[in-house]
Amino acid sequence: MRLAKLHSTTLAIGFLAFGTVAALAQDDPAQVLFTNCAVFDGKATELTDAQNVLVTGNLIEAIGDASLTAEGATTVDCDGRTLMPGLIEGHAHLMLMGPSLPAMEANSTWEDFAIHGTRMSEMYLMQGFTTVRDAGGANAGLQRAINSGAIIGPRVYPSAAFIGTRGGHADFANFTSPVGESTNMGRLNMAQEADSVADVHKFGRNNFRMGASQLKYMQSGGAVSAFDPWQLLAGSQAEIEAVVQVANEYGSYVMAHSYRKEAIMTALNAGVRSIEHGFMFDCEIAELMKEKDAYITTNLTAFDPGLLEIPAVKNVASSLRKATSASAAFVNYIPNMKKCPVKRAFQTDCVGDVPSCSKQIAYEKYLNADFFDPHTALVVMTSTGGELVALSGDFMNPYPDGKLGVIEAGAYADILLVDGNPLEDFSVLGTSDKWFDGPERPDSPETIRVIMKDGVFYKNTLN
Ligand SMILES: [Zn+2]
Repeated sequence: MRLAKLHSTTLAIGFLAFGTVAALAQDDPAQVLFTNCAVFDGKATELTDAQNVLVTGNLIEAIGDASLTAEGATTVDCDGRTLMPGLIEGHAHLMLMGPSLPAMEANSTWEDFAIHGTRMSEMYLMQGFTTVRDAGGANAGLQRAINSGAIIGPRVYPSAAFIGTRGGHADFANFTSPVGESTNMGRLNMAQEADSVADVHKFGRNNFRMGASQLKYMQSGGAVSAFDPWQLLAGSQAEIEAVVQVANEYGSYVMAHSYRKEAIMTALNAGVRSIEHGFMFDCEIAELMKEKDAYITTNLTAFDPGLLEIPAVKNVASSLRKATSASAAFVNYIPNMKKCPVKRAFQTDCVGDVPSCSKQIAYEKYLNADFFDPHTALVVMTSTGGELVALSGDFMNPYPDGKLGVIEAGAYADILLVDGNPLEDFSVLGTSDKWFDGPERPDSPETIRVIMKDGVFYKNTLN
C-alpha cells in the first residue's frame, strides 16, 4: 500500500519535475521555499542557521536569509531543522539479490533481478540516498524506469556488466562450465568474462551501449567468492589500459576492484580514477592518488570486529581461511586512511535481500562516523560522492544539469530535512551499531522528515 501511495504522489508532482508536460514545466516551473533551516552544504564543518533555500523545478535556485522569498512558492518551514544534500552511495549492486553468486547464476531469471532491483531502489531512496552508483549488474533499464517515474528510486549511475577474467571476481559461471560457454549473467549483460585486450574492447563498448556511465573492472579476488584468492592480480597491464582506453573513448572513467598494493598502483598508473575497497591502502598509494586525482570507496563492514563470525564466512572453510588472512593483511587500512587522507566516497557493496541490505546500510553509515567522525562521514556521503559520479563526464553523465551532493545555487534539488544536527549526532541519519544481527530497519528513518529528489517530494512527515 505504501508503494502505491508514494507511486501516485511521485507521478502527480513528477509531471512538472520530469518535464512530462514539457511546455508547463519550462514556462512555469514549480517552486518550493524551505524557510528557517540550518544548512549543511556538503562540505562546511558547521551548520549555517536561519537560511531559506529556494527550489525552482529540479534545481536549487538560491540560498539566503529570511529576506529570500518567492511569491506563489510552496513553503516548507524547517523550524530550525537541518537541511542537507541527499546521500550518495558510491558502490552498490542494486540487482544482485544473492544468496550467493552460484545461486544467481543457476536459478535467477530476469524477473527475479528486476523485482529485486525495483525493491532495492525504493529502499535506497527511502533510507535517504538520492544517488546510487551501481558497481556492476545494472544496465539502463532500472535507471530508465526510475527516471520515468514508473518506479521509485535514486538517480542511478550504472556500470552494466562487471568486466573480469576467467576465474576472477566477476566469473559467475558454474564450476563445471567449459571455457567460452555462455552464462546466465553474461546473457543478461550483468557480468562478462574478458581474457584479452579484444574482449575488454568488446565488452567495455557494449557496456556503454547498454547504458553504463562508467566501467567496472575486477582486478583482485574476494573472500567469499568461489575461484579467486583475494590476492589475485588479474588482468595484464595492457588489458587494464584497454579498459581505461574504452572509458576514455566515451569521456568517462574506470572503477577497479583492487585489494593488493601492486593492483592499486597498476590501476592508478593505467589511469583508473576510482579504487574500490583498496584494502592495502598506504601513504605511498595516497601520494599517487593525489597525483592522478583519484578517489577511493571504502566498505568499512569489512572491518567489523565480528567479521569471522558471519555465517557466510564461518561456515565455509575456504572462505574462513581467506577472510582470516585478509583481515590480518588489511590491519593498517583505517590508520593509514587517517594518517594520509584521500578523497573517499561511501560504499556498502551489499549483495542480498532487501531487509539485510537495509541493515548493512545502517551499519555502514554508523561505521563511517565511528571509525572517523561525523563531519568526515557527511562529506564522504555527500559532496565527495557527487564529485565521484561526475567523473562520468560531459557525454555519459546521465544527470548533467547540476551538481550532486551539495546545497548550492545551480545544484540539483536533492534534499533531506532531518531532526537534529548530524554533525553532532550522526544517528539522525538512520544508523545502527549492529550489522546482520541488528533489529529490522524501518522503511525510512523517522528522523529524516523530508526526502526530495529532482525537486520532487518522496517523503514529507512535517504536515
Ligand atoms: Zn562490489
